[in-house]
Amino acid sequence: MSAQPAAVTVRVPAKVNVQLAVGAARPDGFHDLANVFLAVSLHDEVTATAADTLTITCTGPDADQVPLDRTNLAARAAEILAARAGIEPAVHLHIAKNIPVAGGMAGGSADGAAALLACDALWGLNTPRAELLDICAELGSDVPFSLVGGAALGTGRGELLTPVEAGTFHWVFAVADGGLSTPAVFREFDRLAEGRRIPEPEASPALLAALASGDADALGAELANDLQAAALSLRPQLARTLAAGVEGGALAALVSGSGPTTAFLVADQESAEKVAAALEASGTCRATRIASSPAQGATVLLS
Ligand code: ATP
Repeated sequence: MSAQPAAVTVRVPAKVNVQLAVGAARPDGFHDLANVFLAVSLHDEVTATAADTLTITCTGPDADQVPLDRTNLAARAAEILAARAGIEPAVHLHIAKNIPVAGGMAGGSADGAAALLACDALWGLNTPRAELLDICAELGSDVPFSLVGGAALGTGRGELLTPVEAGTFHWVFAVADGGLSTPAVFREFDRLAEGRRIPEPEASPALLAALASGDADALGAELANDLQAAALSLRPQLARTLAAGVEGGALAALVSGSGPTTAFLVADQESAEKVAAALEASGTCRATRIASSPAQGATVLLS
């Protein structure tokens, strides 16, 4: 073990899926996915401090929607890491939350990855990266990507990652009132898919080429989310948000992951500000956030 710091803060990005291809439901209920993830510069910060027992606090605009018990993914990460190391999860975790909750931007997953890295440093464990990634996959399908960041193709349940090349892109996110449960959106996907043959999910070569080129117009033409119809079926008013962003000058729009956050690809920072203003004026969303991609994965800030 190396010297143990008194506190460790980890910064972790949200994600947007530029392609989310969903296969038919498997016998275990999960779906095979071809998921092209981009980490975006919208961050939570998790600070781990030595304490007598595992406790969690959370601040931020959505803090009241974050569970502060052992169901919080940050707490689960600390417990799993401590159990593997044969120690008590004696840590206080503070989450400074900026990623929308239940918004399809992997906020809980981000906190799980951040807490894992923070506790690993706090406890001086130096857990090998491959083992940290295993724990992330155990915590949830989107958690490994939160650790890795950048841009990646996720296959399997989305947890088997291959890095992909990506230029810089600018985004506006519209935060909706209330969340959408990811399992409920998948159930709606299954209901809408009944009686249809669902093709094997595959990453689109045209999308990957557009991503690598950094050409926002080309990427805009390729954005695809197979969960969008299900999210819109559960939350029809999101169609108005999508239309308001496009009318406001976005190159393209889509539901982020399982929603209800909507994502707008824009040409540059100036355009991002205009689109955000148009979305706010439209009254079709609760708030907007401007971000760029790709962003670094979970990173230790202070220790
Ligand atoms: P994904 O994009 O991975 O499907 P999401 O962004 O839609 O996830 P989260 O913000 O991760 O959704 O929240 C989903 C649910 O997880 C919340 O409603 C909450 O009950 C629970 N949860 C557990 N840990 C956290 C956390 N650290 N932050 C937010 N929600 C959490």
